[in-house]
Amino acid sequence: MPFADLGLSPEVLRAVEEVGYVEPTPIQAQAIPYVLMGRDVLGSAQTGTGKTASFTLPMIDILTSGRARVRMPRSLILEPTRELAAQVAEHFETLGKNHKLTVALLIGGVSYDDQDRKLDRGADVVIATPGRLLDHFVRGKLLLNGIEILVVDEADRMLDMGFIPDVERICKLLPFTRQTMFFSATMPPEIQRLADKFLHSPERIEVAPQATAAATIVQRLKRASDDPAAKREALRALMRETAVKNAIIFCNRKKDVGTLYRSLQRHGFNVGALHGDMDQHQRTATLDAFRSGQIAFLAASDVAARGLDIPDVSHIFNYDVPIHPEDYVHRIGRTGRAGREGFAAMLVTPKDYKALKAIEKMLGYEIAWIDGAPSEEEQREAESERPYGNGRHRRGNRSRRNKRPHGSGGQPGHSPKHPAQANAHHGRDRDERRHEHPKHPHPGERKAHSHPAPQQNKPQSQPQQQPHRPRQQGMGDHVPAFMMRPVRVT
Ligand code: AMP
Repeated sequence: MPFADLGLSPEVLRAVEEVGYVEPTPIQAQAIPYVLMGRDVLGSAQTGTGKTASFTLPMIDILTSGRARVRMPRSLILEPTRELAAQVAEHFETLGKNHKLTVALLIGGVSYDDQDRKLDRGADVVIATPGRLLDHFVRGKLLLNGIEILVVDEADRMLDMGFIPDVERICKLLPFTRQTMFFSATMPPEIQRLADKFLHSPERIEVAPQATAAATIVQRLKRASDDPAAKREALRALMRETAVKNAIIFCNRKKDVGTLYRSLQRHGFNVGALHGDMDQHQRTATLDAFRSGQIAFLAASDVAARGLDIPDVSHIFNYDVPIHPEDYVHRIGRTGRAGREGFAAMLVTPKDYKALKAIEKMLGYEIAWIDGAPSEEEQREAESERPYGNGRHRRGNRSRRNKRPHGSGGQPGHSPKHPAQANAHHGRDRDERRHEHPKHPHPGERKAHSHPAPQQNKPQSQPQQQPHRPRQQGMGDHVPAFMMRPVRVT
């Protein structure tokens, strides 16, 4: 179906053409006509599906009639991270260039003054992280009773970051008669509950099966030791072995992002770091440097994983096995974008076997090992050595009020270098930084004083019955180094 059949205005169609979109993506083809009709929409779609334009394009047309009033924005888009919010604002500016809509970006880590000025002039669209939006509201700089359209983007990420209470609070501050859209990659019960509460007879649109990895990404596993120095050495070996143009290296904890960043720097890698404790200017500067190729490697936490549109990343290295299986798909989804070939390798220590199984179960296949898979015996041994519980991390609703961000921001563990870092406390507000957990309990790493899960305390004497799953790409256990070059998956 061509864009012209979706009901968009000629001005919007012109912007679409200028930006180079030829055909609507499935989410756009399905959602745009309903959004234009004023219907509520509940969209199951990941980033990379074109979901942003599925709400921005019709919003531009809807908002063209009518005018914004002082401090009374007409529409609101909530995003879980500052980067995503900035990305959507940029998107709005590009696609709305033939219209005279005013966009206000309200995110933490930057000055309130500019944001206040934008609101004072009257904004057609506010794109915000929940914390900063509520801060403006509490300061009396923003009235929410003029909102006609609400978009909650990446709702499951909001849940992961503990933002749902804020999102609920914001929803309750908005007029009852409004159009609401929720977009989420997955639909956990908490998001469904929220959708049932705040959407009215929504049109349900599902465009991709939940959590599928692009077929163009070659995935590999590499055995690693629990010893941090040996693990870092294993990573460096991987980075040197493959023809890496640029890569994001994911860690589960902010602390480890810092350690890894410093270690890679010492070993001569051209690396930057990105996590939620850094001030916004530094984060933006680091991302820009990575996008432009000034730095080739980015050590990052999951805050960087979701939704960022960095079009050309050749490799993803998972220094840690992610705790939530779906984070694996989001992480590796930074490579192999837009049909390009990508490569993702993950270090796996004996403690990670259980988390790895959960990832493979979600993917529906086993990932090939570079140096041969651990034997069943080794896996059983590793399992029986885990003294307490399965350490499963609870989703959502974490207390965020007791977690003030710490440190001065900037490159982890370094004294501030960037001029903006002198300002690191500036705008330190309720934002996503405090939702990244310095201590993310790893499965199998719970302390003795935590509540043991009795049935999992017992060493497993019997091998667990594993359903047979195909290996990715039909590879055997051993994958020689030369095969680590990205190859198209058939
Ligand atoms: P999103 O899922 O909204 O983050 O979009 C992912 C990428 O797809 C962005 O770089 C968009 O610019 C791009 N994109 C969105 N819609 C289209 C389209 N209809 N045709 C080609 N590219 C698109």
